[in-house]
Amino acid sequence: MKNKQKICILGSTGSIGVSTLDVISNHLDRYQVFALTAHSQVHKLAAQCVQFRPEVVVVGSATAAAELQIILREKKLHIEIMYGPQALCEVASATKCDVVMAAIVGAAGLPSSLAAARAGKKVLLANKEALVMSGQLFIDAIHENGATLLPIDSEHNAIFQCLPRHYNRCPQEHGIHKIILTASGGPFLSRNLASLDNVTPAEAVAHPNWVMGRKISVDSATMMNKGLEVIEAHWLFNTPAEQIEVLIHPQSVIHSMVSYLDGSVLAQLGNPDMRTPIAYGLAYPERIDSGVAPLDLTKVMQLNFQAPDFKRFPCLELAYSALKIGQSAPTILNASNEVAVQAFLDGKIGFRMIDQIIARVMDRLPTSEVDDMAEIFECDQKTRELTNSMIALVAA
Ligand code: NDP
Repeated sequence: MKNKQKICILGSTGSIGVSTLDVISNHLDRYQVFALTAHSQVHKLAAQCVQFRPEVVVVGSATAAAELQIILREKKLHIEIMYGPQALCEVASATKCDVVMAAIVGAAGLPSSLAAARAGKKVLLANKEALVMSGQLFIDAIHENGATLLPIDSEHNAIFQCLPRHYNRCPQEHGIHKIILTASGGPFLSRNLASLDNVTPAEAVAHPNWVMGRKISVDSATMMNKGLEVIEAHWLFNTPAEQIEVLIHPQSVIHSMVSYLDGSVLAQLGNPDMRTPIAYGLAYPERIDSGVAPLDLTKVMQLNFQAPDFKRFPCLELAYSALKIGQSAPTILNASNEVAVQAFLDGKIGFRMIDQIIARVMDRLPTSEVDDMAEIFECDQKTRELTNSMIALVAA
């Protein structure tokens, strides 16, 4: 029997983290949990410790670590407890760890994802913001350190499955015409445009097909999520913006497609459940049971498609322009979006202010080359400050 693979799950208490543990729980003969990390959900993390017995856990603060220690002591569990951003990088690059699931939300996930890449790990990348912020740096780190990068985002995982096994990152050499990213269109696809001013955070996070964390759910409602995915696809598959098309497909059954020069279009289909791409990433190049029900096309009945409307979804257009501008533009887009989405979730701004604020920030901030982590985080920080000051003006 093969040695068990030791897994580190960055963001184990989130939607992707929980789905990953669910897949692992059915394959304990293949996988062993080495490390789990959370930010503040100490009780949820403690319950995961009871079930999966990791060697080490990381939380966001000394206070959270102290709270967790009390709970684990009561349960007579001897698990090393660490805290803070540096600890995330340490567990992600630990010699004992084979596979890293990068599932922290937002820019906070970049340093630990990058640490895993630099340590040559098998990196299962859910944290799309890392690639958006630091595309070239991240891809270089993967290649220079012999790491393996497997996309977990369902669309990119689908594309990965539809590309030739030995894809060499040259689309023209493989006869690729374009990559087609499908998008559900989110909860506001058909809603009257004028009424979007008044939507509540609860309505925005109620995705019709997927159960996800709050930030990505709002990103799906604005379609910034698809915009970030366009940028992610560019870095993962080395395709220019012109060769990446977004297609609205409300049923979320086709997870994405690759169109070839000979007229063939290859698609990956399945029920909308993140355990499928997670299981694919964990077992690659083998396949294992993910726990997802088989797709019954007689029940799906219809597959519909439509082109996205940039007027309804200006965030998508903003993301395409950030990709075309290049340099630090995607970093600015990402940071500004994170702050604006949080302000919306906190009730400080309306839904339609999200894109307007991002557009203004992008207009105001000049772009520059960002070659290392320090430059990326400096740009990220400046953008957050400007976005916050604009939000303060709007909210006043
Ligand atoms: P969630 O909000 O559900 O979970 C986020 C996780 O990150 C939690 O474990 C949280 O800990 C942790 N976290 C939050 N802030 C910090 C921080 N500052 N430092 C360290 N850890 C932190 O997010 P999702 O699981 O929905 O998404 C995770 C990533 O995967 C995102 O980048 C998203 O875009 C991507 N993704 C998600 C999909 C989905 O279906 N959910 C699909 C495709 C991609 P705590 O719980 O303690 O707050």
